Amino acid sequence: MANRDRYNDEMKLRLQRDLSRAISDYAPDSEVIADGNVVRSRYLKRIPSKDWPRYYYRECSNCNSVNIQLFTGQTLKDFTEQNTFCPMCSARYSGGMAKEFIIPKYGFLYEAEKQWNLANKKPTHTFSGEIFYRGNNTSKLKQYDIPGHSVSCAYGREDELVLINRSNFSICSWCGFGTLSRDVSEHYASNGKKCTGKLYSSSLGHVFRTDVFIINLEDVPIGSIDQALSVLSALTNAFCRLFNVDDNEIGGCVSMSSGHYIFVLFDNTPGGAGYVKTALADRSDNLLQLIRAALKISEECTCGNGERTDCACYGCLLNYRNQRYHDKIKRSYVIDALSGFKEE
Ligand SMILES: [Zn+2]
Ligand SMILES: [Zn+2]
Ligand SMILES: [Zn+2]
Repeated sequence: MANRDRYNDEMKLRLQRDLSRAISDYAPDSEVIADGNVVRSRYLKRIPSKDWPRYYYRECSNCNSVNIQLFTGQTLKDFTEQNTFCPMCSARYSGGMAKEFIIPKYGFLYEAEKQWNLANKKPTHTFSGEIFYRGNNTSKLKQYDIPGHSVSCAYGREDELVLINRSNFSICSWCGFGTLSRDVSEHYASNGKKCTGKLYSSSLGHVFRTDVFIINLEDVPIGSIDQALSVLSALTNAFCRLFNVDDNEIGGCVSMSSGHYIFVLFDNTPGGAGYVKTALADRSDNLLQLIRAALKISEECTCGNGERTDCACYGCLLNYRNQRYHDKIKRSYVIDALSGFKEE
């Protein structure tokens, strides 16, 4: 019996991992390598008589949190009207209507007829995604011993995050056809037959669990989401350099606790790979080193010709995952926030 449970747990974990990756890389209109050819992903796989889980969501541009709610029959308009303020920071949501995402839990199928030889074509991806913290460990923050500072942290085992590929897909709930194109007059199911199902607009998402480490620099005033994103980038990049971890392994997001921006570092691999736990859980010494390394990366980079610090580059704070915020991230924000931690 024990063996069987473990097998099930492992299976669940594998599905979670595969789905995170699939939503990022194999969503409709992505080009994917299959059997040595480049093919285009086109369908969300359907299982007869089973629906994909559907959620409504609103994203807060003030604190970068997301409010998600499982679809239970209410209309998107009703959800929008009932959720006009962000529960994390109390700011009024901007940007009109809430949106919807579905969890493509059975995977994707590609277009059979269109294939390119790998030599002639580089695959392109459609991902414009983001990970948000959904857990409740912000209520368990406890003081870490960093002399002269008030820093509280919490380690969360298998805490909840949500990954949203917020691209606006048009999806057919009958056959699973999906596209980023806005003007589709007709479409065909994966069996080649013409389908008369209606397309509706949706993002794709995945709720998953992994190990997180939350950092609240209580006495550091962080004045804007741009500054918070800059400090987050410095912390994740510093984590990988300091603890010798591949930068694909560590993710980060900004969240909020009692009106203050906080930083959530997590193991990218669903289920947790042990990185944040080993490095930071109950390790005040390592945490201080991490903060100092984040400051050092920002101070010592020479982007901006060594004169300006209102910039960032791939040598300091920028990386593939924070692409969406490259115009917001600046070394000066990190230096302003963290200079109080400098080694005497
Ligand atoms: Zn907010
Ligand atoms: Zn269809
Ligand atoms: Zn730089």
